[in-house]
Order: sequence, then C-alpha cells, then structure tokens
Amino acid sequence: MHVYKAYPGGKFKVLTLSYDDGKFSDRRLVEMFNQYGLKATFNLNGGIRDQVRIPMEEWKELYAGHEIASHSLTHPTIARCSTSEIVSELVEDRLALEKIFDTPILGHAFPNGSSSAEVRQILKDLGFLYGRTITDSYCLVRATEYAKQVDKNQIPVVGEITGFEFPEDFYAWNPTCHHNHDLLGYGKKFLELTKKQYTYLFYVWGHSYEFDRDNNWDMMEEFCKMVSHRDDIWYATNLEIVQYEEAFRRLIFTMDHHQVVNPNACSVWLSVDDGNRIVEVPGGATVNLF
Ligand SMILES: [Zn+2]
Repeated sequence: MHVYKAYPGGKFKVLTLSYDDGKFSDRRLVEMFNQYGLKATFNLNGGIRDQVRIPMEEWKELYAGHEIASHSLTHPTIARCSTSEIVSELVEDRLALEKIFDTPILGHAFPNGSSSAEVRQILKDLGFLYGRTITDSYCLVRATEYAKQVDKNQIPVVGEITGFEFPEDFYAWNPTCHHNHDLLGYGKKFLELTKKQYTYLFYVWGHSYEFDRDNNWDMMEEFCKMVSHRDDIWYATNLEIVQYEEAFRRLIFTMDHHQVVNPNACSVWLSVDDGNRIVEVPGGATVNLF
C-alpha cells in the first residue's frame, strides 16, 4: 500500500502566482486576486523609490494576505555583479522588506531572470528558501511538441513534460508560464487534470504593468474566474508550497509505513489506498495509517 503526499485538505493540485517589481498596476492586480480568492507572491525591491512604483508606505496594507519576496535591493542583472554586491543586494533587500512587513522574507525572484550557481549558493547561505527563474516550462513543452511534429518517433529527452511539474530544485524554480504564454489554454488543461497518482503545480508569473501595456486585463480576469473557488485546487503563495514540502519531508514513518509521526506544528495530508483515503496528520501527532 502506497502512502503519497497530498496538499492541504487532501488536494492534489496547487496554483500559485508571482508578480515582480511593485509598480502601480499591482493595485488592480491585488484587488483582482483578492476578489477571486487567489494567493500570490509579490517580488519587491526594497531600495527603489521612483515615479512608477507604489510608495513603500502603502505596501503593508496593499499586499496583506499575500507573500512578499525579495527581488534584490536595486534590481541589477545580479549574475554580473561581484560576490560582495550580490550579498549586499540580497541582505539589504531582506532587511528593508522585513522592516516594512515585520515577517521573515524567505523567497527571491531573480531580477532580470539573472542567476548563476554562485547566486543560488549565496541565496541558500543567507537562509532564503527558493529562487524563481523566468524560464517557463511552457518553452520546454513547446520544444517537445515541436520535436514530435518533426519526428513522430522522437523520444523526449527529459520525459513527458506537462508544465505542471514540481521543481526538483527550489533555487532554480521554473514557472509553468508567463501570463502571455497561453494562460487560458494552460488554465483549461490544469482544470482537466484528474490523475490522482500525481500532484500538479501550476505557476504563473509576470508584471502587472504588462496588462496595461498589452491591454489584456480581461484575459487575466477570465483566467481568475475560471480557476477560482475550486474544491480540488489549493491556492497558495510560493513560500507556502516550499514550507509544506519541508513539512512533508520531515514526517517520520515506520519502515513498513503503517505509522507516521508529524514533528511539525502544522498538519500534513496523506493519500492512502491509491487516493481512496485522505488522512490528515495533525502537527505533533502520531497516526496509524492502516
Ligand atoms: Zn523585475
């Protein structure tokens, strides 16, 4: 009998959204997410005040209920910086954001999508829990589809890619798609997923000012309407996903996995009997699964 990880409430799908730069259009986007009950991560630069960004004095109230993550202090192409500048861009941003939001800031979105092995290592060393890239799985999916068109016998090099995979490395966390990359198409695919032997992660990223530039707020609203208020989807911030995964990894099982100990403060949900039974393992509890 297999014991699988399930998401809170026994769900097997999770949706998360990630928006960068904190410009004025975030106000409209936050309002939309709040209206539909969606959770997002907003990636902010604690060292930039200018005419296109929301004043820092408004941040705490505006973004309440969502995660705030670091986007570096002043938005350099960070992989080109010296080690000392990488460190100060990350540390100073965290200090500034933590002062404003009064909570640990543990996530990061690479400015200009720029990262390297060194930047990722420094993130880890500084206690960040993840780093988000701008490499859409969308591109990998399209490349695989194209390869199949060219040669029907093509064997995918990295297995079948759906775009809804869980990241292997949270410090190189690739989103499913930018919102301009077939968001509604991906949304429909995500809603149609029913195979409970897998978990699915749908990760959308972008910048709110792009909706003004591209005049496509309607498309985003249609997406929010389509994916919201579903019983089978967990709506989570980036950090909630990372911390839930950590909680699951900390579970202690007997070798025959009939019993599980949850040393966390939070509950963890498990899928037992091929998904026929969902078991909530409360924080601090020992539970016999069968
Ligand atoms: Zn940015």
